[in-house]
Amino acid sequence: MSRLQRLYQATILEHNKNPRHYGVLDSFSHQAHGKNPLCGDDFYLYILLDDKNCISQVSFVGKGCAISKASASMMAVSILGQALDDVLNLKDAFLLMLKEGKSEDKASTLGQLSVFEGVCAFPVRVKCAALIWRALENALMSSFENVVSTE
Ligand code: ZN
Repeated sequence: MSRLQRLYQATILEHNKNPRHYGVLDSFSHQAHGKNPLCGDDFYLYILLDDKNCISQVSFVGKGCAISKASASMMAVSILGQALDDVLNLKDAFLLMLKEGKSEDKASTLGQLSVFEGVCAFPVRVKCAALIWRALENALMSSFENVVSTE
């Protein structure tokens, strides 16, 4: 097993056991529900954007396999406090990495998230790792539509 594979396993098991930012926010500006029927992953994502368009709070609840839960936990850690544009770039970089199996700029953009690089070898698991990021996309996109419709 390679060093990255060992890191991948250890990181996922640790976040699965002790998920960060688990729970429902008291107040939030964005939310989304993500389901992966193939695996049974089922999560709700909550986000509070502040007036500078930064993620001031984020949380998730739900159930799913270790990969989907660890991905949600690590995503929450990664996006907390980040500006919306940076979060959308991170989301694109992560989904591209899952698709292609490597990231162009993993050190600066993806950081610890690059441990998911090995998931692309298991197509069924790609959906698990991507689920919460798709939910993030939906949460943020739906609010953009709301903003447009109220103007
Ligand atoms: Zn799963």
